[in-house]
Amino acid sequence: MDEAIVVGGGVIGLTTAVVLAERGMRVRVWSRGPEEETASAVSGGLCWPYRIEPRAKALDWAERSFRHFAWLSEQPALTGVRLVRGTLRDDASTPRRWLDLVGSPPRTPLIDMGAYLAYLRGRLAAAGGRREDRAARSPAEAGELAPVVVNCSGLGARELVPDASMRPVRGQIVVVENPGVEEWYLASGPDSGAATYVLPQPYGLLLGGTADEDAWDTEPDPATAEDIVRRCARVHPELARARVLGHRVGLRPYRPSVRLESERLPGGARCVHNYGHGGAGVTVSWGCALDAAQLVAEE
Ligand SMILES: Cc1cc2nc3c(=O)[nH]c(=O)nc-3n(C[C@H](O)[C@H](O)[C@H](O)COP(=O)(O)OP(=O)(O)OC[C@H]3O[C@@H](n4cnc5c(N)ncnc54)[C@H](O)[C@@H]3O)c2cc1C
Repeated sequence: MDEAIVVGGGVIGLTTAVVLAERGMRVRVWSRGPEEETASAVSGGLCWPYRIEPRAKALDWAERSFRHFAWLSEQPALTGVRLVRGTLRDDASTPRRWLDLVGSPPRTPLIDMGAYLAYLRGRLAAAGGRREDRAARSPAEAGELAPVVVNCSGLGARELVPDASMRPVRGQIVVVENPGVEEWYLASGPDSGAATYVLPQPYGLLLGGTADEDAWDTEPDPATAEDIVRRCARVHPELARARVLGHRVGLRPYRPSVRLESERLPGGARCVHNYGHGGAGVTVSWGCALDAAQLVAEE
């Protein structure tokens, strides 16, 4: 049981692979397609438990992840992780436990995902793990090559498992030139619907967002982008004139409940599933990776 194949090279797969490799396992990550098309690459990178179930477990995972991110934020140039102050509006949907953790005014990890995914890949390589550009047709296919498979395929689990309860929740973001905003802003809305947010990243200011259930289109919609800028300009009026640097669309891998459990594959290999993290995969990534590693170790 000293060898594992992790299917999925997004934030969930890479974090899980790092934990396993640093515990001494020989780890290969199978990932298909360009990284910029993963939900992780598009993510705003704010640690906040948004659109993820079950709530109580997500908070446990998020709290454990928060501690690891706080440690990573001590080396922002290396990791892409910073602890940043912000403003939260309409916080009715945000659990009290989380509000207590981030304090008042809130201060939470804000992650530059491009830099952070590169950091995770480097940390994995340093622990002896490697990444392969390869698509899995089923967990059993990987199980023929390693005694442990960890399924971190995000929305891909819909076909891979197959799991029909996996659904996309489309999110669109506008990147603009930052006119000098240093703190994040989030209006989460009473029903966790389309949050409005402004996130200062090193490469520009991220403006969001949208949350369209069962929408698969990854082309940016110009009218939606205008609406996003309009909403954010109500918070920072100078954003109405900010130069647009780019548009991003990603599909949140939503499931009514995150799947983090273990099963025996037909050929005898053990498969630990770790997918379905919706709008908070970055936020819960370390807590989920540690639980997945625990399931691997129990075998
Ligand atoms: C616009 C937007 C903003 C967001 N903002 C935030 C935020 O601020 N904070 C936060 O915590 N979360 C945020 N999220 C949510 C977050 O991005 C996701 O929850 C997270 O990225 C999910 O990670 P993942 O690794 O499960 O999926 P992904 O990043 O999509 O990775 C899945 C991986 O599996 C691979 N794969 C799939 N099928 C196969 C197969 N058959 N064989 C091999 N490989 C396969 C893919 O190639 C990919 O590498 C946001 C999402 C969006 C869209």
